[in-house]
Amino acid sequence: MEPYRIKVVEPLAITTRAQREEALKRVAYNPFDLRADEVTIDLLSDSGTGALSAAQLAAGMNADESYAGSRSFYRWHAVVSELTGYPHILPTHQGRAAERILFAALLEPGSTVLSNTHFDTTRANVELTGCQARDLPCAEAADLDSDYPFKGNIDLSALQQALESAQESPVSAVVMTITNNGGGGQPVSMENLRQTAELCRRHNVPMILDAARFAENAWLVTRREPGYQDRTPRQVSEEAFGLADGCIMSAKKDGIVHIGGFIGLKDPELAEKCNGLLIATEGFSTYGGLAGRDLDMMAQGLLEVTEPTYLAERAEAANYLAERIRAVGVDIVEPAGLHALYLNAGRLLPHIPPHQYPGTALVCELYLRGGIRSAELGSLYLGEEDDQGNPVKSAPYELVRLALPRRVYTRSHYDHVAQTLADIAKDPSSVHGYRIVGQSPILRHFSIQLEPVKSAG
Ligand SMILES: *Cc1c(COP(=O)(O)O)cnc(C)c1O
Repeated sequence: MEPYRIKVVEPLAITTRAQREEALKRVAYNPFDLRADEVTIDLLSDSGTGALSAAQLAAGMNADESYAGSRSFYRWHAVVSELTGYPHILPTHQGRAAERILFAALLEPGSTVLSNTHFDTTRANVELTGCQARDLPCAEAADLDSDYPFKGNIDLSALQQALESAQESPVSAVVMTITNNGGGGQPVSMENLRQTAELCRRHNVPMILDAARFAENAWLVTRREPGYQDRTPRQVSEEAFGLADGCIMSAKKDGIVHIGGFIGLKDPELAEKCNGLLIATEGFSTYGGLAGRDLDMMAQGLLEVTEPTYLAERAEAANYLAERIRAVGVDIVEPAGLHALYLNAGRLLPHIPPHQYPGTALVCELYLRGGIRSAELGSLYLGEEDDQGNPVKSAPYELVRLALPRRVYTRSHYDHVAQTLADIAKDPSSVHGYRIVGQSPILRHFSIQLEPVKSAG
């Protein structure tokens, strides 16, 4: 059961099918453009969408909004220092600000950054500094159905090869994303982190953790990795931070706050460079684009997020939803993680070709039938067409992500999601595809306009 009870409630938007049809048509079948109060269960993202605890709100009320040197900063700094062990910690307003500042200070233009998988803003910030972002996911990640426990790992032999043959394009950093968000939210093992750190040390390349879901990764390590059963998620987290040379953090995930992030570093010179950029673009070193109350609420959130009771229930709730979805015959990316479930839309809707977007078709159907908002991760997100709309590149898989906000929905909400999927899975052939009628050249999935393709296939 949830290890908390509900003190404050917010009504859900209960809509009719006719209202949802009209809303979806109005936004040209792009759920990013729906108003949130047209959505009943919002599984678009787990970022900044968590529920605050009473202790976080109390900490926020007790915050100090002084311009410099606020008591909130010192409280926050003590919590983050103890968690990460890094001597240099800089607050930022969210994860991508930490990426921009660290990469501007650290990366040599023309060099390469290697990663288990770059998150999309991480890749964009690497490329903005004139560097190349290369993903080296482990081979096991390619099999969506296998229950290999650490599909978030980096491919160590590919990493070694890339570090050894770095003559033409030197490697400026290795970024380890925990959990591997771009790779289906799969965890990275401590063994993989340790070996990556060792290779980095040997080649004198810094290893940076993209630590947005460090606590969820630590939880899965205690469940799945030999030798870690008796360790707490807190101990595993501290060990992971200790293996790296620094971190970038989006606290909108495992900080359980609505906004916030930070940079943590061992190297004082690099920290000094980042501090200059921080003051110029985010804010003074003791607030970095955040209010005092944001720092205090983040500090409290970072203490709550490694609580075993919290993590155990988050994992159990995700497994509960995963079990119900499998039971109605819909495949998900296995094994289920914590922050999201990824539905295999390509397999559920084989009659819809990639360039009629099976993922989008399922996203729209979930909204039309259940008022549920989700995200496509398939050929709309990753594919390409030529000027006439003919397919050029398809995504390797047609997936739909159901992100699970922290402490927001209960299992009866998840029952509604599973029931909606069950209804769709009873007659998948009635679901039709979509065609693009308008798009922008970059990050098109945010602004795409579509129309239904009435005759299937
Ligand atoms: C969300 C996220 C980011 C970016 O953080 P924002 O707070 O959204 O700017 C970076 N890396 C990973 C793995 C993320 O999940």
